[in-house]
Amino acid sequence: MQQELTFVIENEEKMKAFGLELGEMLKSGDVVCLTGDLGAGKTTLTKAIAVGLGIDDYVTSPSYTIVNEYEGRLPLYHFDVYRINDAEEMYELGYEDYFFGSGVCIIEWAGMVEDLLPEERIWIEIYQGDVFEKRNVTIKAQPEILKKLEGII
Ligand code: ADP
Ligand code: MG
Repeated sequence: MQQELTFVIENEEKMKAFGLELGEMLKSGDVVCLTGDLGAGKTTLTKAIAVGLGIDDYVTSPSYTIVNEYEGRLPLYHFDVYRINDAEEMYELGYEDYFFGSGVCIIEWAGMVEDLLPEERIWIEIYQGDVFEKRNVTIKAQPEILKKLEGII
């Protein structure tokens, strides 16, 4: 069963602080799904989560590679599935080893591969309004995870 939590992030610094704390609390096998339009802040959030996982490498948007791997406290698999045309490409990539494996996955544009995702996931929607830097964020996840997240926002 998943519950949801909605809150406002006032600026980029607060988004980074949230990502850092989220990265620190992630566990083996967690799958973080990010949705939101171009420029919403999915990659910005991913970079901060990576820092929280103890990754020093610079995280870029894996636009041409679909998935980039990083080594931190846990392995991080950063997906950007924007250019995926069909599920076949995900099978060729061996997505199951990532999504159902023991590292952490972060998936930008997760809505495009929704059918392939594990049921237990942390689903984060980022909305940009008219106000510069302000983002509305909705998180859908297991109640235990939301409880911990409530403590950091
Ligand atoms: P996406 O991956 O969703 O396309 P990016 O993270 O690449 O988005 O870009 C987000 C842009 O918005 C960056 O230029 C960042 O500096 C800016 N920005 C402004 N406010 C915020 C915020 N609150 N959270 C995240 N990014 C923000
Ligand atoms: Mg991006």
